[in-house]
Amino acid sequence: MAEWKRQEMDPVRAYVEYFRYMGVYDFYRNGEAGTLTLDPEIAAVAEPVRTVSAARVAAPAAVSAAPVLELEAPVTPRLVSLTELIPDAGVRLPAENKTAALEAIRAEIGDCTRCPLAYAGRHTIVFGDGDPNARLMFVGEGPGADEDEQGVPFVGKSGQLLNNMIAAMGLSRDRIYIANVVKCRPPGNRNPEPVEAGTCTPFLARQMDVVRPEVVVALGSIAATYLLGVKQSLASLRGRWHTVRGVKTVVTYHPAFLLRDPNRKADAWKDLQMVMAELGLKR
Ligand code: URA
Repeated sequence: MAEWKRQEMDPVRAYVEYFRYMGVYDFYRNGEAGTLTLDPEIAAVAEPVRTVSAARVAAPAAVSAAPVLELEAPVTPRLVSLTELIPDAGVRLPAENKTAALEAIRAEIGDCTRCPLAYAGRHTIVFGDGDPNARLMFVGEGPGADEDEQGVPFVGKSGQLLNNMIAAMGLSRDRIYIANVVKCRPPGNRNPEPVEAGTCTPFLARQMDVVRPEVVVALGSIAATYLLGVKQSLASLRGRWHTVRGVKTVVTYHPAFLLRDPNRKADAWKDLQMVMAELGLKR
């Protein structure tokens, strides 16, 4: 590859990726749609961008001129609860089929490029972890650096505190199921954008429908927002029961928040005691 071509290509790719990051996926060329003919060497450079979403992003017609784009305004998805998001097929899988069902969802996610987080430094898609037949499921926000590296949710500092919370309930990690609102690490641990959460949560809904826990615990306000479809203070949502996809759901503080403000641990413990009473767990 001649160096000048690579240099010419990078701004184009950066341009396309910038718009993706802003939530804009659909680009249209002026004039008739047709087959784009690219210099094979340029096509090879452009490949990662085009294969990402070939149906959605037209490759630039020429690299020497700025691409002519007609952009639609990005659409922020309407905030809906996980219950409303996709229908529940109502299927209750036998215990022995749940692992395969979860594997099928994971396979469908593939090397996902459906949202901007795929281009924001993600290393690993963190699908979920634990017992597919768990009675209790925790839902967090999204992977951090440790989870991104290891591919398992809640393995960093927050994960250690979560493990202690689970142990205090008389349970262990292998008896519960854990997943997140988004499966890819938001850069710098920022909150997931609505378009990212909206793209990823249908998979979470399907994981929930496979596991069909008796109780879900939403960890923190991001999980609460996308499970319940409301943006309210955590204090106003915790300490009472909600229903998500037919499952009794409690909202409590995220372990990362509890690490910053240990005074809230007593309230979190009250929330977990509600869960223990519901599941008949004794301490
Ligand atoms: N925080 C989360 O919300 N999820 C993880 O998996 C790790 C940290």
